[in-house]
Amino acid sequence: MNLTGLHLLLTYQCNYECDHCFVWGSPSQEGVMTLAQIGDIYRQAQELGTVNSIYLEGGEPFLYYPIMVRAAREATKLGFGVGIVTNDYWATTVEDAVECLRPLAGLVQDLSISTDLFHYDEVMSAHARNALAAAEQLGIPASTLTCETPEGAAGYPTQTAGEPVESGLAANAAAIMFKGRAAVKLVEGVARRPWREFNECPYETLDDPGRVHVDHLGNLHVCQGLTMGNLFEQSLTEVVAAYDPQAHPIVGPLLAGGPAALVERYNLPHEESYVDACHLCYLAREILRERFPECLAPGQMYGGD
Ligand code: SF4
Repeated sequence: MNLTGLHLLLTYQCNYECDHCFVWGSPSQEGVMTLAQIGDIYRQAQELGTVNSIYLEGGEPFLYYPIMVRAAREATKLGFGVGIVTNDYWATTVEDAVECLRPLAGLVQDLSISTDLFHYDEVMSAHARNALAAAEQLGIPASTLTCETPEGAAGYPTQTAGEPVESGLAANAAAIMFKGRAAVKLVEGVARRPWREFNECPYETLDDPGRVHVDHLGNLHVCQGLTMGNLFEQSLTEVVAAYDPQAHPIVGPLLAGGPAALVERYNLPHEESYVDACHLCYLAREILRERFPECLAPGQMYGGD
């Protein structure tokens, strides 16, 4: 397994509560990674030897600003490339955004700025413009992360995937995946396909993941809410060595035939059609959580506590 990227979900807490959020980010989420846990995770990444980049994400990592800055500094000291994903709520003016970003100059190699109709009432928000301008002033490489609004989704205008939202400023809009809150909040009105057609996972390399997410509870996710171990119980080296994708009770069927195979393997109740593979996968996993709690965690990834 060639694991090169470790994405730290510092918290599931967020000042926003977007309909498309697949980690159920919300102001009501609780918990944050401690400095000691971050240090421990970095040591584990060093021991494994293949990890070369650390991303700091959430939830919204700027909510725990001093922890995030220290985490970026420590990662840089250890030789990791550092990225941050943020909703840019803090970029109220360019001047203020410069102050927020100044401690990250020289540390962060990729500042990923979310802006779309889920976060703001215009695709290219004033916050995103401010954050981009501030990053440019400070020499921090930055780009926008924009999710399309799916055709037919109740309450949203359609924004087509693949089209530039604003030439020269924002990256192309990306299609959303209907997992997490999106599988509950965004499916109404969106076209569906027969469930048997979802016979592969279209997004994750589940047999050899190049990057994984770790949350403040230690869960190591190959996809959000689908875990391969816990770094507070076993080391990353042990988890990676023990990972047997074919034998994993959820990953195995997904590799064999996608979410449809997961339904068939466990004879799960299902509807006739779903919006995408993730929609079927997420709802099937939700049913299986009680049976495989060690692989389908934490509750926060499924809209619970
Ligand atoms: S199909 Fe399942 S495992 Fe693959 S990306 Fe979607 S939710 Fe994740």
